[in-house]
Amino acid sequence: MPLTPPPPPASWRPRTVATRGGLQRSQFLETDEALFMTSGFVYRTAEEAEAAFAGDGLRFVYSRYANPTVSMFEERLRLIEGAAMCRATASGMAAVFASLACFLKAGDRVVASRALFGSCLHILNQILPRLGVATELVDGRDLAAWKKALAKGVRAVFVESPSNPTLEIIDLPAVAALAHAQGALLIVDNVFASPLLQKPLALGADIVVYSTTKHIDGQGRSLGGAVLGPKKFFDDHLLMFLRHTGPALSPFNAWLLVKGLETMELRVRRQCEVALALARFLEKHPKVPRVLYPGLASHPQHALAARQMSGFGSVVCFEAGTTKADAFRVMNALRLIDISNNLGDTKSLTTHPATTTHQRVPPAERAALGISESLIRVSAGIEDEADLIEDLSQALKQM
Ligand SMILES: *Cc1c(COP(=O)(O)O)cnc(C)c1O
Repeated sequence: MPLTPPPPPASWRPRTVATRGGLQRSQFLETDEALFMTSGFVYRTAEEAEAAFAGDGLRFVYSRYANPTVSMFEERLRLIEGAAMCRATASGMAAVFASLACFLKAGDRVVASRALFGSCLHILNQILPRLGVATELVDGRDLAAWKKALAKGVRAVFVESPSNPTLEIIDLPAVAALAHAQGALLIVDNVFASPLLQKPLALGADIVVYSTTKHIDGQGRSLGGAVLGPKKFFDDHLLMFLRHTGPALSPFNAWLLVKGLETMELRVRRQCEVALALARFLEKHPKVPRVLYPGLASHPQHALAARQMSGFGSVVCFEAGTTKADAFRVMNALRLIDISNNLGDTKSLTTHPATTTHQRVPPAERAALGISESLIRVSAGIEDEADLIEDLSQALKQM
């Protein structure tokens, strides 16, 4: 079995690729992708082992380097994304860190949008500076701020769009052009959009990273991550970094994820429908002063989102009343929607960003990000929206 399965016929359309792309059958001709739960592989002779370690790249050696089930998942995601290369990691944060640490060195500069997942902020504010990499955060919506920050020289630009949790949209083609003018790589954390709704590489990005924990698994079962991008970046930097630092994805999780990709479109399209229904309900509710959803005409960047995304995503944020106590009362009164900090799940989930995902962000910075004390994030699942609206409605009455 070669490390990279042969690509499917070029005539296959995206839904066929999502169901069958990357499939490699063993000698047993199983229907489903096989789970190769093995750490290593055997050699018929010592000479074969010697040749394998000489690195012809044509056979499996050790699952920290590559594994058949993991390779099937990587190949399917690569085809869906339209990237030259894909490597899976054990979590989304491992993918984010590897995408930066594999090529940055002391003295380099990174510029990033300020509205980021909390752990991404920790890498940028704490870990990279300790290694001698300077970092600067800007308002990602402000092209003048990007221009000013990038003019000082930059090696990597890191953005998340839509952002967690306030759903800010970055103009990806514009930021890509500014980054490239300075010789920098643009890395996009595409988790909130999912591989279905936004194609950062086609919009000018160089590298895409995912937490596959979210929409790709989408059923709350496994952690995982992925990095996608051009062959040169992988050959020069990422492949050796992953091989020798070891954030390898478990074959079992890869097996869940390759099956997750088969139903991702059905789930994410449905989640977008549910999210829009919840956003419309919340927007009309008298106890809800603010609703954030890129699919609402009231979202300040609705037109930009419509331009670069093919759907508006599964996350809606709203303010319940004005205080933390108001938000907690509503969340504690929910009977159907669970309180959980995950997102992209088939079950609708809700979280209070100020006290969970962004608890460690200093309060002034949190306020600047628009994460108020009464802000609640809802990740829309695939349940019946009428039941979800009834649940939110009865919970808001408790406030
Ligand atoms: C969840 C998430 C991550 C981290 O992924 P894990 O799989 O939890 O490590 C990174 N970025 C964004 C935007 C996320 O939502």
